[in-house]
Amino acid sequence: MKKVLKNALLAVGFSAVLAATPLAMASDHGGGHGGGHGAASEPAAIVMSPSQAMAEIIEGNERFKETHESHYFDAYQNSQSPVLTIVTCSDSRVHTNLFGFVPDNNIFVIRNIGNQVVNSEGSVDYGVRHLPTKILMILGHSSCGAIKAAMGDYSGETTGIKKELDPLGPVIAHDDHQGEFKTRWAKNVEQNVDYQVNYAMKLYADKVAHGDLIVVGAVYDFNDIYGKGRGSLIITNVGGEKTPSDIMNNPIFKEIDPSLVVNHVSSRAQ
Ligand SMILES: [Zn+2]
Repeated sequence: MKKVLKNALLAVGFSAVLAATPLAMASDHGGGHGGGHGAASEPAAIVMSPSQAMAEIIEGNERFKETHESHYFDAYQNSQSPVLTIVTCSDSRVHTNLFGFVPDNNIFVIRNIGNQVVNSEGSVDYGVRHLPTKILMILGHSSCGAIKAAMGDYSGETTGIKKELDPLGPVIAHDDHQGEFKTRWAKNVEQNVDYQVNYAMKLYADKVAHGDLIVVGAVYDFNDIYGKGRGSLIITNVGGEKTPSDIMNNPIFKEIDPSLVVNHVSSRAQ
């Protein structure tokens, strides 16, 4: 329990923070966040007040400073040298420390609803053209609310949200409406990743052609939709290649044990 509370800021949703309810464990899961897996064993969401959240922000940073001496920051006093530009969803359930290196000075992160290049194109340009990183990853995720919203009527949303959902139109236009909603939703999440990869490959065609950039598409699956366990990182697209067997043969995986690659490559859309 102690550990859970210490990490509460990571577990709590934004709306829950705004709810200003005292720190408490709800008696049931409540639902409403999508996914809908394993309701009976689902732990309750931790609710934090804004002042408790702020305390965790300040105290958490102090803990970070205590465990990272001043020289930790030496390497990036004057410039950054990330190895990866990533475009992922703002959804709080998607974490970027799922990679093997610490995010600091290693990952140039761009987040928006639905992990869309077009809605943050200047930021992506900066990562790819100015830093420049040789990998651009588009990371979608299971239970993406932006995709779900784009699949339905979002005309009642705010001007800002509508503006950011509209570019998902071409993705949703390919929805064949076959099967149950959850199946279509998962497929659309992956097809959005493919769409974004395709968009980026056209935008940076010069770099891609010269071998200076590889665009990788992936889905962070915290619902076990791909059957590889909750929290799996599923590679679904490498340089426009979407067929799992072909993805696995891409030289970008040459440093990885093939058996490990197999467990990280899949497709719900192909
Ligand atoms: Zn999302």
